[in-house]
Amino acid sequence: MEDCIFCKIVNKEIPSEIIYEDDKVMAFKDVNPQSPVHVLVIPKEHIESSNDIDDNNSQLIGHIFVTIKELAKELGIDEDGYRIVNNCGSFGGQTVYHIHFHLLGGRKFSWPPG
Ligand code: AMP
Repeated sequence: MEDCIFCKIVNKEIPSEIIYEDDKVMAFKDVNPQSPVHVLVIPKEHIESSNDIDDNNSQLIGHIFVTIKELAKELGIDEDGYRIVNNCGSFGGQTVYHIHFHLLGGRKFSWPPG
């Protein structure tokens, strides 16, 4: 997708602090961190939002969650706990329409979300 900022990060057309990458997914630091650890985990393939998850990409989405679990351990937040967030659509607060999962940790979070 030409205008997608996260596709540009995947293609290394714009810089980012990449902390993990394989042939299917990429994880990089959020430019506006909301907690001591704030990483975005995305598929390299352009998928707009959770509304576009289906049987064809469910394995890829599952791989993202395995990656998140491994990153949480590597980043030392697995034992205290962490939050995985996906914002979908305007009411969900999505601002970048390339599906992504926020991995947030390093502090205690409250509930309910704002
Ligand atoms: P969301 O509101 O769930 O769509 O989240 C989008 C996230 O992308 C926000 O937390 C932004 O801070 C983050 N973001 C936007 N542009 C960049 C960028 N170039 N590099 C890293 N994170 C970004």
